[in-house]
Amino acid sequence: MFLIGFDVGGTKIEATLFRLSDKPNPSGKSGTFECAHPSRGVLHGETLARLREPTERHKGYDAIVEKMARLIVETCAKAQVPMAELHGVGLGLPGSIDPVSLKMLNGNTMVLIGRDLVGDIRSKANLPEKTPMRAENDANCFALAEALCGAGLLHAQKSGIPVHSHVAVGVILGTGCGGGIVIQGRTLQGARGGGGELGHTILYKEGHQCYCGQSGCAEQYLSGPALESLMATRHYSQLGAAPLSAKEIFEKADAGDPAALAVLIKYRNDLGRFLGSLTSIFDPHYFVLGGGLSLQPAIYQNLSATLANHTFLSDSHIPVYQHQLGDSAGGLGAALLSL
Ligand SMILES: [Zn+2]
Repeated sequence: MFLIGFDVGGTKIEATLFRLSDKPNPSGKSGTFECAHPSRGVLHGETLARLREPTERHKGYDAIVEKMARLIVETCAKAQVPMAELHGVGLGLPGSIDPVSLKMLNGNTMVLIGRDLVGDIRSKANLPEKTPMRAENDANCFALAEALCGAGLLHAQKSGIPVHSHVAVGVILGTGCGGGIVIQGRTLQGARGGGGELGHTILYKEGHQCYCGQSGCAEQYLSGPALESLMATRHYSQLGAAPLSAKEIFEKADAGDPAALAVLIKYRNDLGRFLGSLTSIFDPHYFVLGGGLSLQPAIYQNLSATLANHTFLSDSHIPVYQHQLGDSAGGLGAALLSL
């Protein structure tokens, strides 16, 4: 079956056409992957075409609809797949998505809020009514792809517990802190599509002010910019020193710089505290981390043990995996929504 997944961000829109089949891919072929399916066992996936364009929010809503409709036509043409053979099109969007209307309710890409993006793309691209279209929050899409085709497969292999029995929590540590929860193969959308907004749970009572209006949100301690500003305040004695990027902080910690090491220890402790609270809520089989900071091996050191110090379920060892699918997880998760 052929599926298209969109990863829509504030700066770029990426469309990917995937093929999923019962037939194994030739070994060693690039762009291939495997996914767990509840009734069909393992499905073999292949990336057939991927196109990326700038979002260009300033050009307005209609221009985005036109662009996304065109990307459907062009990915199909590139992979020589007739549009009538598409089994589904999914959109991963940067905001909460109402599970009934599929409209985006919030987020920083203002032009998309409250608009019928799914319906408008369908009519612009002339997609048949029978082709399912879905939309969900992009972090939920990341978590779904990892649960079914990435970290979930790894965990099933290690634990012997099948993918569709897992409770998985995905956390994205990047410019913000996003999250997605997958329970037995399905994302937790919630009543208003806001399920899994983990970055805005309170980590410290009356802590740092967050743009969402609350104080002490996890995002204010766990995002890349939060790490950088913590380092900058530690470096207050070195007036005039240029602020360090997250990557430079990890490099300095690696080289034994005391200030960078102290920042890293504080960060890891906050991350453990955060995952510990989430463990008390979801008791997940595993966590999977995505986003730029998840690429740093240093954040995983003793993380499961730190987590255990911050949860009611303190005797359990909960694995924290690095993402397995790389940047393609968002688009793949969006494609899988229509399964
Ligand atoms: Zn917040």
